[in-house]
Amino acid sequence: MGKYRGKSTTVLRPKTTQEVSEIVKWCNDRRIGIVPQGGNTGLVGGSVPLKDEVILSLSNMTQVRSFDPISGILVADAGCILQSLTDYVAPHNHIMPLDLGAKGSCQIGGNVSTNAGGLRLLRYGSLHGSVLGLEVVLPDGTILDQLTTLRKDNTGYDLKQLFIGAEGTLGIITAVSILTPPAPQASNNVILALPRFENVLPLYKTVKRQLSEILSAFEFIDRTAYDLAVKHGQGRALSEDEVEGAECFVLVETSGGKREHDEEKLNTLLESLLEADEPLINTGVMAQNPAQFSSIWALREGVTEAVSKEGKAYKYDISIPLSTFKECVDLTRERLRSKGLLSEDKVKAVMGYGHVGDGNLHLNVVANAYTEEIQDALEPFIYELVASHRGSVSAEHGIGAMKTHALHYSKNEVSVAWMKRIKAMFDPNGIMNPGKVLE
Ligand SMILES: Cc1cc2nc3c(=O)[nH]c(=O)nc-3n(C[C@H](O)[C@H](O)[C@H](O)COP(=O)(O)OP(=O)(O)OC[C@H]3O[C@@H](n4cnc5c(N)ncnc54)[C@H](O)[C@@H]3O)c2cc1C
Repeated sequence: MGKYRGKSTTVLRPKTTQEVSEIVKWCNDRRIGIVPQGGNTGLVGGSVPLKDEVILSLSNMTQVRSFDPISGILVADAGCILQSLTDYVAPHNHIMPLDLGAKGSCQIGGNVSTNAGGLRLLRYGSLHGSVLGLEVVLPDGTILDQLTTLRKDNTGYDLKQLFIGAEGTLGIITAVSILTPPAPQASNNVILALPRFENVLPLYKTVKRQLSEILSAFEFIDRTAYDLAVKHGQGRALSEDEVEGAECFVLVETSGGKREHDEEKLNTLLESLLEADEPLINTGVMAQNPAQFSSIWALREGVTEAVSKEGKAYKYDISIPLSTFKECVDLTRERLRSKGLLSEDKVKAVMGYGHVGDGNLHLNVVANAYTEEIQDALEPFIYELVASHRGSVSAEHGIGAMKTHALHYSKNEVSVAWMKRIKAMFDPNGIMNPGKVLE
């Protein structure tokens, strides 16, 4: 994002857990701050040093430790790239339980540390469920070995949960044990053009009812985000005629056990949507081959990249009730307009896209430059809006360096106080990713 820059002189790339432990102990004894770094794809500045901390990169820890093709349990070093793990389990007919646009660079340790959600959460749930065990180097160098492969283990406090989403503030994850689901035998997708945002909710209800167990993604892209993705070459699925009059788009993916069965269900859904007395959609295009399948996904996955290419992005990754997605984008646009900031040389676009199925909206404001004026117009306005719906100021990207000041909009005083106590207990010298998550 080009938003954060530290002054570190040193990057260390250990190859083993023992080496990580020795580095951490050495730093702890000398009160030297450490920033754990995975693929460096995080969107809240968590992996970037704020001052001159030592960067501890996991990029040399890339071994798969074990894989059980019967249970689907994979144990891998934290530095394994998500895509390479996906490729590793594919010949065994398994998939990773998470998938995201950054899969070619992000690491499984980074994914777990940010509790990344992504495109499969609707189907396979969050990492709090699929991660079975972790190996973590604690801030004093102690190795906490909780790398079990058990599905069931109710023996006291589940410590590993604390490190899932801790963004490297409690310790360094060196290995992950994770449950990989069997690969669906058939996947398909369709992109639907909707005349009005108001149709998204009834559409979601209809799609869930008709596709039931084979529904694996229900993603939303508003018109501005769609046009930007197309402009920056992130896939194309619909002709100009087909997008005419569309206010937003929905990508539906199915993953099931039998191609003919799934296609029939999807076709029946499309027919019923198009033939309804008051159709919820203008049109829909179903992928006919793997290239089209990828192109439809590229549209959705490519929005993040398109936004970065277009300008400087103010990104808000929020959880709010589904029915308020559009209101939130519209109110933000209106706010910027009322401040005289909505113009080609200041704010170029305001858009919403995201994971409808998870109630997660990505509200993005694209500007020519990061300025105080824009920042002040957006914050705390957006955070107050989110809090008024009892939403979350960070649905999946985390707090990092970007949102420490906004944590209180989603976590009350008692919760923050306990988070601080936990941090102090694990890391009394405050060496582990200082300045992140908690102020
Ligand atoms: C194009 C794109 C699409 C994205 N899509 C999604 C999405 O759909 N859903 C989603 O949730 N996120 C998404 N993200 C952001 C997401 O958080 C990251 O991509 C990913 O999970 C971070 O992994 P990483 O290895 O790059 O971690 P980094 O960016 O290197 O680090 C992220 C945080 O974790 C800490 N960390 C990293 N590795 C470790 C470790 N081994 N031990 C302890 N702490 C560690 C870092 O200190 C930092 O605080 C996207 C990002 C991009 C660029």
